[in-house]
Amino acid sequence: MRYEAVIGLEVHAQLLTRTKAFCGCSTAYGAPPNTQVCPVCLGLPGALPVLNGEAVRLAVRTALALSCGIRPASRFARKNYFYPDLPKGYQISQFDEPFSDRGELEIEVGGVKKTVGITRVHMEEDAGKSHHSAPHSVVDLNRSGVPLVEIVGEPDLRSGAEAAEYLRTLREILVFIGVNDGNLEEGSFRCDANVSIRPVGETRLGTRVELKNINSFRFVEKAIAHEIVRQAEVLDAGGRIVQETRGWDEDTGTTFSMRSKEEAQDYRYFPDPDLPPLRLDDAFVAEVRGLMPELPEAKRRRFTGEMGLTPYAAQVLTVHPGVAAFFEEAAKRHAGAGHGPAGATSNATKVANFIQSEILGDVQTHGLDAKIPVSADQVAALLGLVDGGTISGKQAKEVYAAIAGTAEAPAAVVARLGMQQVSDAGAIESLCKRLIEQHPKQADQLRAGKVSLTGFFVGLAMKETKGSANPQLVNEALKKLLGPG
Ligand code: ADP
Ligand code: MG
Ligand code: ZN
Repeated sequence: MRYEAVIGLEVHAQLLTRTKAFCGCSTAYGAPPNTQVCPVCLGLPGALPVLNGEAVRLAVRTALALSCGIRPASRFARKNYFYPDLPKGYQISQFDEPFSDRGELEIEVGGVKKTVGITRVHMEEDAGKSHHSAPHSVVDLNRSGVPLVEIVGEPDLRSGAEAAEYLRTLREILVFIGVNDGNLEEGSFRCDANVSIRPVGETRLGTRVELKNINSFRFVEKAIAHEIVRQAEVLDAGGRIVQETRGWDEDTGTTFSMRSKEEAQDYRYFPDPDLPPLRLDDAFVAEVRGLMPELPEAKRRRFTGEMGLTPYAAQVLTVHPGVAAFFEEAAKRHAGAGHGPAGATSNATKVANFIQSEILGDVQTHGLDAKIPVSADQVAALLGLVDGGTISGKQAKEVYAAIAGTAEAPAAVVARLGMQQVSDAGAIESLCKRLIEQHPKQADQLRAGKVSLTGFFVGLAMKETKGSANPQLVNEALKKLLGPG
């Protein structure tokens, strides 16, 4: 039998607030266990939650970036279950009245665009973290109460590759709008994948299996692909798919059963009596919308449009919001220094090329931070020296290596190392004259039309001047001395 796979993803993303969703405890990652806790996030009797306004702003920004509608009134619910990392015995979430619904996300797989529905975005709180190291299991509740958005996707995806691309696109948006640090290893961006199959042509959905908390896009793709094959084998052998939660074992490349899947009624959701309904009026939503950072796709369109970059360069320079901002700042300063009009193609492309070929390999990112070894000012000044003919492109690489990690001005390095480019046309001409005399055979061949020998003489000139001769002037001198006439 031929089957079609159906996949819907649930993503949990930590919101980048300083404090937790319902108390004032710090959300900073990596503190000693159980040092960022209070009666509220420990679930002690009588403690009362107070909603974090910044968490609401970031959640609404997330929903708007995914084209969701914002519901003017929503409600927090208690999702009841027992687990050692959940001291209250329930998680505060949103259930039948989320603050937003019905959005979409556009992805591109193999050059084909596809719009994937977003069912809803809702707010909830994170649980603590259990660590199992025999003979003990211990729990760290620092994470308990950290604000999350859950982004529930429609079952519109049809392959592991589409699912992985959906996650990459979603993660990029969240990082660029500054609501989440996109850190899969630290668990601040997590995904559950729901997978089912059905005979090709069938419109009803098959029974789904939920793959839990897979912490890399590559593993998501592999786990889904494996799960599709496993389900097809079960059905082909006359079996039935059981609705269950399965985990992914990277070592064996297989999924394994963890538990049968809970239904909503198992959680006995009910409105949290400690929290009033959340009201989001139009003015608030308009304010959040007005402060929306530029989305990555729009940024790339602007980079290729008004700034004239190639699609490839635009893609590379939007690898991280910090890199994109650095590029824009350097291009602005370079243009501002009078080396061409702001946004002029050649100007922006020069900056883009230099960042891609020299700087990007030295950039270190962690979450939303990008450590770049030079400032936008230094890059603009350095490329200004190239534009003005003071140094060659080759020398620019050396100057970059010298200023990286320092605050030194490129011009100071050029002076210190005595690397002024030789742009004295007379000096270059006499050098070329000497080189021609030293290599009469090659000179004759070049005169006779073997133009490839131009490179031979340019190379000699560069060697003699340790790369400081202005190559354009060398070319002109050679043409003058050896050219026709
Ligand atoms: P729960 O919260 O219990 O996991 P939901 O009904 O909210 O359940 O569905 C969660 C996710 O499962 C959604 O992303 C949805 O797209 C996906 N999903 C639902 N049914 C199927 C199915 N039959 N096959 C694949 N994915 C599904
Ligand atoms: Mg689920
Ligand atoms: Zn607390």
